[in-house]
Amino acid sequence: MLTSLRGKSVIVTGGSKGIGRGIATVFARQGAKLTIAARNEDNLKKAASEIEGDVRYEVCDVADWDSVKAMVDNTAEAQGGLHVLCANAGAFPQTKMIDMDPAEWDQVMATNLRSSFLCVKAAIPHFEKAGKGRVVITSSITGPHTGFPGWAHYGASKSGQLGFIKTAAMELSRYNTTINAVMPGNIYTEGLQDLGQDYLDTMAASIPLKRLGDVEDIGNAALFFASDEAGYITGQQIVIDGGQILPESLEAMEEI
Ligand code: NAP
Repeated sequence: MLTSLRGKSVIVTGGSKGIGRGIATVFARQGAKLTIAARNEDNLKKAASEIEGDVRYEVCDVADWDSVKAMVDNTAEAQGGLHVLCANAGAFPQTKMIDMDPAEWDQVMATNLRSSFLCVKAAIPHFEKAGKGRVVITSSITGPHTGFPGWAHYGASKSGQLGFIKTAAMELSRYNTTINAVMPGNIYTEGLQDLGQDYLDTMAASIPLKRLGDVEDIGNAALFFASDEAGYITGQQIVIDGGQILPESLEAMEEI
């Protein structure tokens, strides 16, 4: 049993859908005060009303500094400070390099990697004020562990997040704040559904536990990193993928 997060102030970016919504649901169930942030207000409104608990929302583009700073400051004002930041928002357009416009590369980097820096930078003064803080970044197995055609930019951004947390962990230690990353495998979300049923079926077949992950599988790992009990872990990452990166070959899967 982890020490309660009841009453703690938590931000989840990308909390209107998918993994972010799963993280927000897990924290709200613990009695935390939640702000979910994303660009589409209708989706935010719907998620905030459907997730049971103390949930508000902020419209925010995580790739834009002014937008991120306003979202973090407004949240701290509304929730009596900030204790946990889950920087989860991300995008994964699939385009092979030969067809990729360089602008798409920049957009993916801004949404996935620059955003991690912006959210952490905006949160630092609030962690300093609280005397303590927790950051959980949503990375991926794609990039750090695996490759997939069409995701050169995505994989680079997700590996970049892991590079970022190493130095961030050192700088944040001054504010008694830890930063760690969750690395999901294939998790059943709206974003993943957009890739089509063939993709979902092929992926499920390549996972030793023989199913896609649930968004709350990631929420539970984020909750652990945010807990008092994880207070001596920083700059680290955990893979949550049903064993997907383990098989050495296709034959290895057939042996199961
Ligand atoms: P999703 O279902 O497409 O949801 C993405 C969320 O991020 C939405 O709330 C979206 O809202 C928000 N978002 C996207 N761009 C944004 C921006 N510029 N500013 C603010 N919010 C933004 O995606 P998901 O599958 O849950 O993925 C969430 C995270 O998990 C991503 O970082 C992704 O890389 C990572 N991940 C996912 C999987 C998987 O299998 N699903 C696996 C590994 C890693 P708006 O569009 O309204 O802004």
